Amino acid sequence: MPRPTERHSRVVGVQAIVAPLPWIVMGVGLVVNQVAQSVTGQKSPSILLTVLPIFFSLLLLRLALAAYLHPSRRTTLLVLLAAIASWALGSGVVNAARDEGVTQFPAPGEWLFLISYLGMVGYLLGDVDRRQQRPARGWLDIVIICGGTACLASLLLVAPIRLASHQEGVSLLLALIYPLADMMLAVVVLGQGLMQVRIDRAKSWMIGAGFVLLACADSGFALQASASTYDFGNLSYALWGGGFSLLVAAAVRPQQSMIKSIPRTVGTPVLVGAGLIALAALTIRPDDTLAYYTLPPAVLTMGSVAGRMALALRDANRANDAFALSHTDDLTKLPNRRAVRTWLSDGLTDRAPMSLMLLDLDGFKEVNDSLGHRAGDTVLTLVGVRMREAVDPQARVARLGGDEFAIILETTDEIELMETAHEVLRELAKPIMVDGIEISPSGSIGVTVALASDADGGEVLRRADVAMYQAKNSGLGAALYDSQLDEFSRSRLQLAEELRRGITDGQIEVWYQPQFDAATMQVCGLEALVRWRHPTQGVISPVSFLPAARRAGLMGRLSDLVAQQAIKDLAARHAEGLELRVAINCAPPELLGPTFLPHLYEAMSETDVPTDQLVLEVTEDSFLADPQYTRDILLELRSHGVQIAIDDYGTGFSSLNYLRNLPVQELKIDRVLIANVAGDDRSRMIVASTIQLAHALDMRIVAEGVENSADLAALVAMGIDSVQGYHLARPMPPSQINRWVREWSAPRETSDPSPLGEGTPMSLNEE
Ligand code: C2E
Ligand code: CA
Ligand code: CA
Repeated sequence: MPRPTERHSRVVGVQAIVAPLPWIVMGVGLVVNQVAQSVTGQKSPSILLTVLPIFFSLLLLRLALAAYLHPSRRTTLLVLLAAIASWALGSGVVNAARDEGVTQFPAPGEWLFLISYLGMVGYLLGDVDRRQQRPARGWLDIVIICGGTACLASLLLVAPIRLASHQEGVSLLLALIYPLADMMLAVVVLGQGLMQVRIDRAKSWMIGAGFVLLACADSGFALQASASTYDFGNLSYALWGGGFSLLVAAAVRPQQSMIKSIPRTVGTPVLVGAGLIALAALTIRPDDTLAYYTLPPAVLTMGSVAGRMALALRDANRANDAFALSHTDDLTKLPNRRAVRTWLSDGLTDRAPMSLMLLDLDGFKEVNDSLGHRAGDTVLTLVGVRMREAVDPQARVARLGGDEFAIILETTDEIELMETAHEVLRELAKPIMVDGIEISPSGSIGVTVALASDADGGEVLRRADVAMYQAKNSGLGAALYDSQLDEFSRSRLQLAEELRRGITDGQIEVWYQPQFDAATMQVCGLEALVRWRHPTQGVISPVSFLPAARRAGLMGRLSDLVAQQAIKDLAARHAEGLELRVAINCAPPELLGPTFLPHLYEAMSETDVPTDQLVLEVTEDSFLADPQYTRDILLELRSHGVQIAIDDYGTGFSSLNYLRNLPVQELKIDRVLIANVAGDDRSRMIVASTIQLAHALDMRIVAEGVENSADLAALVAMGIDSVQGYHLARPMPPSQINRWVREWSAPRETSDPSPLGEGTPMSLNEE
C-alpha cells in the first residue's frame, strides 16, 4: 500500500501523461475520419462516434485526477465533471435516437444538456480565485453584462437563424437556447475577469474561448438540426471537442491566489455599453416575434442598471459622508484644517476673491491647565459658535486645531476684513461662565488676502500666521499681513539660530538693576536681568529674544547660564564684602521643570554663598498649572534657604488669599500699577491696599518701574518697603555694578540721587 505522498506523486505523474491525450485522440479521430471520407467518398459519423467516448473519458479522467489532487477545489471540479459527463451522455442519447432514424428537435436526450448547462454555471460561479468584496454590485454587474450580451445576441443572431431555419415559437427558442447559453457563460467569465474575482488571465481566456467554440458548434447544430439537415461532421466535432478540451485544460490549471493588480470593479464604459444595448433592444424592434427574445433580457438589464445606479448613488453618498467627516472637527463640528486646505486650493484654482483670517486664542493653555480639559473644550466650542455668529453666512469658519481657528471670506477689501476681524474679537470677548468662573476669551487675528501668485494654500496659511504673530506682538488684536513683517518672521528663525550660537560663544550676559530700601535709600538688593551682546546688533533686551529662545527650546540652557553667573557674581561680591541679595527671574517651565532647580542647588553648594541672599522671582501663572506641586517646590526652595518673590503682581489673577498659604517673602508690584501711581487714584488705591495686605501677611513689598520722583514719594508715603526703577538706576553690566553701589553708598554732596546705568553716559563709557 503506497503512502499518501507516494500516491500523490504517482497521481501527478499520471496526470502529466493524461493531459495531452484528449487532444491527441481528437486530432487522430479527425485525421482518420477525413482520410476515411476521402477514401470511401461518403460521410459517415461512425468513426467519430467511436472516438468520442474515448475522448470524453480522457477529459473526465483529467478532471477526476485534478479533483483528487486539489481537495480545496474538489467540489467545483466534480461539478464540471458531472456537467461534461451529462453533456456526453446527452449527445450519446441524441445520436442514438438519430441512428434509429429519428431526427427530432428537441431530441429525447435534450434534458441532459440542460443539466449540463446548470452544472457549468455552477462550476463558473464556484471556480473563482477570490471572493467579490461587494457581491451585490458584482452580481448586478454580471447580470447587466449578460443581459446586454443577450440583447446583442438576440438582435444579431436570432433574426438570421430564424430566417435560415424557418423556425418559429418554441422550437426556435429551443434551437437558440444552447448558443445563447454558451455566449452567456463566456460573458460571465469575462465579467468575472473584469471584477477581478478571476485573477488567472490565461485561464479566463481559455474558458471564454471554450464557450465561444461551443457556441459556434451549437449554432451550427441549431441551424442544421432544426432544418433536419443535421450532419455530424469534422467541423462540429472539432468545435465541440476543442471547446470541452479548453474548458478542462483551464479547470485543471493550478489556482492562483496572488493578486497582481489592484482590484477594481467593472469599468463604467462596459456597464454603460450594456445599458445602451438594452435600450436599443427595447426601442429597435424589427418585428414582434423578435421581441420575445430581446424584451426579457433588455428589461432585466435595464432593471439591473437601475439597481446598480442606486448602489452607486449610495456609495457616492457614503463617500460624501466620509469626506465630510474627514473634513470636520470632532469637538466644534466646524470644518477642520483639511477642509481649509481644500477651500484654499479650490479658491486659488477658481481665482475667486478670497481672504484668510487666522485666530489664535490668548492664554488658552492656562484655561486648559488650570480649569481642566472639559472647561477648555467648552471654551473652544463656544468660541466656534461665536465666530460663526460674528461673520456673514457665506464666510466659512473652521478650527485648525488646538486654539487656532480660521475664517475664509469671499472678499479682498482690507478695510472690510479688518472690520470683520474686530467684530469677531468683540463677539469673543463677551464673558463666558465656565465651572462658575467668568472668562473673557481674547485672541489675535492675522489677516491675509489670497494672491494670484500663490502657488498653494500653504502659502496663504503661512502669511496669515505671520500676520497673526504680528497681531499678538503688537497687542492690537488684529493685523493685516505685511510683507515687511514677513522679513521678521524669517529673521525670527535666524534669531533662534544665532542665539544658539550666542549661548555657546559666551554672548549672554547678566546685568543688574539695583533695588533700594525705601526708608534709607540704600541699595538693598539687585535684580539679575539677562542681556545678549549680539556681535552686530549690540546689546539686545530679553523682551526681544526670550520668546524666540522659548520657541527654539533654548530656555533651559539660558536659565541655567543666568543662574550660574548670578551665583558666581554673588559669591564674588560677598568676597569683596558687599552684602546684597540678588533676585533671579524664573519662568514657570523652568520652576516646574526637572533640571533648573537641581542645577541651582548644585551651584549654590559649590560657591558657598549665603543662601538667604538669593531670591527667586516667580510669576503667578506658575500656580495655575499645578498649585500643589508648585507649593511643594517653593517649600523645597525655602528648605534650601532661597527666598521667594512673586513677580509682576497685579497683572495676573492676583488674589492675596492664595498667597496666604504659600511660603512667599516678597511681593513685587508690577510697573503697570506703579506708573503714575502719584496721579491716578485707582492705581494708588490698589497699591495702598496691596501694601497693607502684604504687610498683614508678613511679606516685603517692592515697587518696580519707578520712573519719577513723584511716584517714588507717593510710594514711600504709602509705606512701600523697596523700590526699583529707571528713576533711581537702570540695569547695568556686572563690571559697573559694584563700583556703582559703592559710589551710591558713599556720602554724597548732593541729596538728589542721580539715575545711572543702562543708556547713561556712565554705562556707555564702560563698554
Ligand atoms: P521683569 O521681571 O518685570 O523685569 C523688570 C523689567 O523692567 C526689566 O526689563 C527692567 O529693565 C525693567 N525696568 C526696570 N525699571 C524700569 C522702569 O523704571 N521703567 C520701565 N519701563 N522698565 C523698567 P528687562 O531687563 O528688559 O526684562 C524684561 C523681562 O524679561 C523681565 O521682566 C523678565 O520677565 C524677563 N527676564 C529678564 N531676565 C530674565 C532671566 O534671566 N530669566 C527669565 N526667565 N526671565 C528674564
Ligand atoms: Ca523680575
Ligand atoms: Ca516685573
